[in-house]
Amino acid sequence: MRIIDSHAHLFFDSFDDDREAMLERAGSEGIAAYVHVGTDLESSRAVKRLAVTMPNTFPTVGVHPHDSAGLDEATFDAVRTEAMAPEVVAVGETGLDFFKNYASRDVQIHAFRQQVALACELDKPLVIHCRDAFEETAEILGEIAPVRGVMHCFTGDPETAQLFSELGLHISFAAQVTYPKKTEAIQAAARIVPEDRLLVETDCPFLPPQPFRGRRNEPAYIVHTVRRLAELRQTTPESIAETTARNAIALFRLPLDAAL
Ligand SMILES: [Zn+2]
Repeated sequence: MRIIDSHAHLFFDSFDDDREAMLERAGSEGIAAYVHVGTDLESSRAVKRLAVTMPNTFPTVGVHPHDSAGLDEATFDAVRTEAMAPEVVAVGETGLDFFKNYASRDVQIHAFRQQVALACELDKPLVIHCRDAFEETAEILGEIAPVRGVMHCFTGDPETAQLFSELGLHISFAAQVTYPKKTEAIQAAARIVPEDRLLVETDCPFLPPQPFRGRRNEPAYIVHTVRRLAELRQTTPESIAETTARNAIALFRLPLDAAL
């Protein structure tokens, strides 16, 4: 089984003590590559640095909506410079979060629009975080559709999944599909996403799957999400792994063999 974790934050200091052992555990479960997602200027630089020593980790550069208040002109110029590097596979994590509202809506929308334009300019896909802001996100993305990118850690219902896949986006599922409560809509969405748009991710160190809730999430645990997606879509874990790996390679233009 070959799995690509399409969204991981391996730079977090909660991995500092056992990063190598953690990657080995993941390797033995079949995790073959990572899209390693930066969330602000500093962490975007960190994912690029780590890519040198961590094979098959593919960096992204962007500013998370939570951090969008810090995206002044000078910072945006620096983000742009970092994102231009050929090894950077995507722009993001960007998007809108009207649940936590760590930055005002206007500030978030401005930062998101800047990064959407940057992704278009650089011809790189977008990694999009969206919480309680589906309508506004769809409106902004609708202006540039078809959009190359991913709705990461998808938490919407089937209609919303349908809307974003019609805009051209991939839909990535994290461990919420393994949670027994209050996830019916997400699970229903996971059933209907077109085969060529499906991705799987950990979003580690956040969002551990059901057996590990309350603990740090790590890449090896992605197999629980893969198995649950297989149940929901009435197929095998091997098929989910291969389909999502192929989709990640295509979306992010990863320098990996599409065929096993
Ligand atoms: Zn994330």
